[in-house]
Amino acid sequence: DPNSGSSAMLEVARSLGELLKKGWKPSRTIIFGSWDAEEFGLIGSTEWVEENSERLSKNAVAYLNVDVAVNGTNFGVSGVPSLMAFAHGVMADVTDPKTGKSIFESWVSRQKAEKANTAKVGDTEFQIGSLGSGSDYTPFLQHIGVPSLDMGFNGPYGVYHSVYDSFYWMEKFGDPNFTYHATLAKIWGLMVMRLSNEALLPFDYSNYGRQAEKFVDSISRDAKENELDLNLSELKKAASDFRQTAEQYQERLNRERLAANNLKIVNETLLKTERAFIDPQGLNLRPWYRHVVYAPGIYAGYEAEVFPALQEAINSKNISQARLAASQAKSALERAKATLLFNANP
Ligand SMILES: [Zn+2]
Repeated sequence: DPNSGSSAMLEVARSLGELLKKGWKPSRTIIFGSWDAEEFGLIGSTEWVEENSERLSKNAVAYLNVDVAVNGTNFGVSGVPSLMAFAHGVMADVTDPKTGKSIFESWVSRQKAEKANTAKVGDTEFQIGSLGSGSDYTPFLQHIGVPSLDMGFNGPYGVYHSVYDSFYWMEKFGDPNFTYHATLAKIWGLMVMRLSNEALLPFDYSNYGRQAEKFVDSISRDAKENELDLNLSELKKAASDFRQTAEQYQERLNRERLAANNLKIVNETLLKTERAFIDPQGLNLRPWYRHVVYAPGIYAGYEAEVFPALQEAINSKNISQARLAASQAKSALERAKATLLFNANP
């Protein structure tokens, strides 16, 4: 933590350098960032994002975060729902050194085993995790709304943040042949190449819509169980409208081949949709956090809270604050829907 990530990043940079020498050229700009002072409050990444917020808000397509690249052999990935299919696609194209199957297949088998234990099945089965905090994606996603992914190979707890987290441990026990470091560099490198080169940005907001609707349903059940006098029907409608619009948008993208000038408009739309979840006013009691759907829970450490302002108001049974947060969430979903509807006929 985080030198396994730094070494994987250097390997990605070296590999892309080799490709550049052979004539490869990305169509979008790739920036490598190695952040200072993460442990002291994400200081390096936060300062950089704040300093460059205008041009990042306007242009940044995605942010890929790797902190601890390897402390085991289980691939884990969290991120925005619009990048789930993209992440799955890359995972399907890289081989897991231990199982010989794809990273995706190994990951799905583990998800199935875990879900069997907790008896939670259904279409959330293969969802990637939600982003809370504890690493440098926070300013990118939660301050300015850049779609983000965070990934790494995980193992049993014990070495992380301890005196045993050393090169000796990694070489002897953690990843003796550094095969998982190399595998992470392959996944990361493929993601960078696809995001920087694919003509159509690989975002799918229909999954975002389904997730948002599910989050709202779960919060509504919470409000009911707490017997709060809170009407969330408008928020439910906004979530369902966003989901429907996003599904229709995605269906058209799957069906039609886009002409070059429309491609530009569609990419602009896909880029702006995540930004629609940013509310300049920020969340209640912590205005720096401006993403209405994802934040670390105030009392949850690194864990993500979805529709955090609303969930927290419900937890503390603060009705007036819950109404404000519900209205803020509703507006964000309406903005996202409007972004997709604008130029809805590519
Ligand atoms: Zn750390």
